[in-house]
Amino acid sequence: MLLDAARRRIGADRVFLDWHCIGVDQNASGVSARFRNPESGETLPCQSGAVAVGCEGIHSAIRKQLYPREGPPLYSGVNMWRGVTRWPRFLTGASMVRAGWLATGKMVIYTIGNSGSARRRFQLECRNVDARDHHGGA
Ligand SMILES: Cc1cc2nc3c(=O)[nH]c(=O)nc-3n(C[C@H](O)[C@H](O)[C@H](O)COP(=O)(O)OP(=O)(O)OC[C@H]3O[C@@H](n4cnc5c(N)ncnc54)[C@H](O)[C@@H]3O)c2cc1C
Repeated sequence: MLLDAARRRIGADRVFLDWHCIGVDQNASGVSARFRNPESGETLPCQSGAVAVGCEGIHSAIRKQLYPREGPPLYSGVNMWRGVTRWPRFLTGASMVRAGWLATGKMVIYTIGNSGSARRRFQLECRNVDARDHHGGA
């Protein structure tokens, strides 16, 4: 859905899939982004523009370039399990349940979608005791 919307708005010939950004170079007139094919490792042509927006997620290559000493993301110590099931509506129909806490285990249940069917997403969370020692969590 998002891909179709992006193609409609900016043009299908301007959306490149499977181009991994490996870094950007900037000078007074703009930026040039470097790319590689993630499968073959082949170097792809640089793309230039006025600005580069790094939005490549938690393992961002551009963030690593800008903050080389930051290191990898830190594990918060919280594990989550999620799922979706059909379940009868309760209270207002949009009410949610939040029970427990991280130290012992927390459960969150809420409605997703606004169709007639009552789909509920559930989420279970708990803190990994070993990770707590490393990151000082409660
Ligand atoms: C299982 C799961 C459930 C979640 N549920 C929720 C929720 O219910 N509510 C909520 O608020 N958040 C939720 N999150 C968190 C949320 O998905 C993320 O915080 C959010 O997607 C981060 O958005 P982003 O655009 O920074 O990165 P992403 O969504 O990770 O997008 C990064 C994109 O960049 C691409 N990419 C990566 N590296 C490169 C590269 N080098 N070059 C080019 N492209 C690259 C990736 O393929 C990806 O398409 C969930 C996350 C997970 C994993």
